[in-house]
Amino acid sequence: MYFDEIVKDVFQEINSLEGRGEVASYIPELRKVDPEKFGVYLSTIDNSGFGIGDCYEAFSIQSIAKVLSLSLAYRMLGEKIWERLGVEPSGTAFNSLVQLEVENGIPRNPFINAGALVISDILLTKLDHPKEDFLAFIRSLSNNSKIDYSPRIATSEKNVGYRNVALCNLIKSFGNIENEPADVLDFYFNLCSLEVNCQELSNLFLFLANDGCTLSGRRVLGQSQAKRVKALMQTCGFYDESGEFSFKVGLPGKSGVGGGIVAVHPKQYAIAVWSPRLNHKGNSYKGMKFLEEFTTKSQLSIF
Ligand code: GLU
Repeated sequence: MYFDEIVKDVFQEINSLEGRGEVASYIPELRKVDPEKFGVYLSTIDNSGFGIGDCYEAFSIQSIAKVLSLSLAYRMLGEKIWERLGVEPSGTAFNSLVQLEVENGIPRNPFINAGALVISDILLTKLDHPKEDFLAFIRSLSNNSKIDYSPRIATSEKNVGYRNVALCNLIKSFGNIENEPADVLDFYFNLCSLEVNCQELSNLFLFLANDGCTLSGRRVLGQSQAKRVKALMQTCGFYDESGEFSFKVGLPGKSGVGGGIVAVHPKQYAIAVWSPRLNHKGNSYKGMKFLEEFTTKSQLSIF
C-alpha cells in the first residue's frame, strides 16, 4: 500500500524526537500512562490498514468521543440539534464558562465541554438505556464488541470534575439541560472514558471518510450531516489550536487529553495517532507533528 511507507518513515522520524510536553494530570488516572507510548494506525476506505508502534494498546480517548456522541445525537435529532448548540470555534479553553453567560447557555460548538454536555443531555433524553445504547452504537460502527468504558477512569474524573459540574449547572440554569445534572455528568464522564487502540479508533472514524456510511454500506449519517460533522472537526476539533491544526495538517480531526488524535481524509482514509505528552494547548505533541509530516509527505490534504 502506498501509505505504508510514508507512515513508517514519518513514524521513525517523529519517534526519534525528544518527547516534549506533559501527560494530562488533572484526571488522576491519566497520570499513570507511560508518556513515551507512540502508535499510529491508518485505515483506508478500500478496507486496508497499516499500523506501527503502540497501535494495538488501548488508551483513553477522552474528547475524541465527542464526535461519536454528536454523530448519534445528530442522527436522532436532525437539524433541530442546532437550536441548542452553535457551530463556531470558541477561541477559549475547552472547559471555559465565560461564553455561556453572555450567550444564554448555548454552547459555541459540540466539541467544547459545554457543548458535549448538551449532547449528553440530548442522548440521555432520547436513548432508553443511554450507556448501553451508546456503547452499542460505537460497537456497531466498527463491528467490534470488545470496545468498552473504563469505570476506573470515569470515576477518577468524576471525583475531581468540579469544572464540568459548574458548566452543567450553569447550562441547566439557562434551561438548556433537560435532565438532572448528576445524570448528564455521569454519562459524559463515561463516554470520555472509552478505551480503544489506534487501529480501533481509525476504524471507528472510517464512516466519516466514507461520506457517512460504514464500509459494509450501513448509513450512519446523511451525506450532508457527515460533511457538517467534518466541518466542525476542522474548525473546532483542537481546542484553541484548531487554526494551527488546519494550517499545518489540513485535515478534519479531533484530539483528546489522553494524547489521541484522529483525522479523516474524505474518500481516502482515517488515521489515529497516540502519544500522551501534550503541548501547552492540550494536544498530543508528537501526534500533531506526525500528522503535519504525514500530510506533507503524502501531499494529500483537503486543501
Ligand atoms: N473528560 C475530559 C474533560 O472533560 C475531556 C477533555 C478533553 O479530552 O479535551 O475535561
